[in-house]
Amino acid sequence: MPELPEVEVSRQGLLPFLPGQHIIKAIFRTPKLRHELPRELTTRLAGLRVDTILRRGKYLLFDCESTLGGGWLILHLGMSGSLRLVAPDTPPQKHDHVDLVFAHTALRFRDPRRFGTLLWHEGSDVEKHPLIAVLGIEPLGAEFDGDWLYEQTRRRSAPIKPLLMDSHLVVGIGNIYASESLFRAGISPLRAANRISLERYHVLVPAIRETLDASIAAGGSSVRDYVHSDGGAGCFQLSCAVYDRLGEPCVNCGEPLRSVRQGGRSTFYCARCQR
Ligand SMILES: [Zn+2]
Repeated sequence: MPELPEVEVSRQGLLPFLPGQHIIKAIFRTPKLRHELPRELTTRLAGLRVDTILRRGKYLLFDCESTLGGGWLILHLGMSGSLRLVAPDTPPQKHDHVDLVFAHTALRFRDPRRFGTLLWHEGSDVEKHPLIAVLGIEPLGAEFDGDWLYEQTRRRSAPIKPLLMDSHLVVGIGNIYASESLFRAGISPLRAANRISLERYHVLVPAIRETLDASIAAGGSSVRDYVHSDGGAGCFQLSCAVYDRLGEPCVNCGEPLRSVRQGGRSTFYCARCQR
């Protein structure tokens, strides 16, 4: 499943090419992804200029403008989506469901499982869209720091790991990144959030940023003529220290790594290094 780093790498891969370009036409080859793809939307999109591309959580937000007013194209890669920039006359393959055609390139959305989202928000206030308004803060933003996370967790006795994955609190920390960040910080994924000290939150937050940043940096080097996301499981272009390594020796202490189910997801950790 594409995680925040893949989405951010996709955004950074598109930024040199799309802002300032006009959408000549939009092509939908399926009536629906996760939501309906209304035919009227192809008409609405034609002629709009993409001004910039932002990211909120795992949503890409395309700011589309015209002299008659604009709006935002909201895109989520879902379980298996990926974006490519192709020559406009490139024949579509089986799961290529959407094209946005520009003068010299086309943005192509491939999504075998069709859990992706493509929605239009008329007007400038995309932060008020129901899917965006419920999102927590950005893990790479300035607001997310040790003091903030400490304050937010004072009344939460749930284990820290599923809390980190709660997108109403902070967005885009997926299962892999939660496990890896907690290992880096030496914090047990089972520890109650309100039993972790301020000092340890000051270690955890940088660990989360470093894990995400390292993955973005690794993926960024692979972006050239297409925008990568292979939809596969595992760390994005990185080797994991604990994720999916049940029974293997801890890289710090050699103790066999453990796994536990939390909120329906597998957590991997070292019981000796993480307290
Ligand atoms: Zn260990």
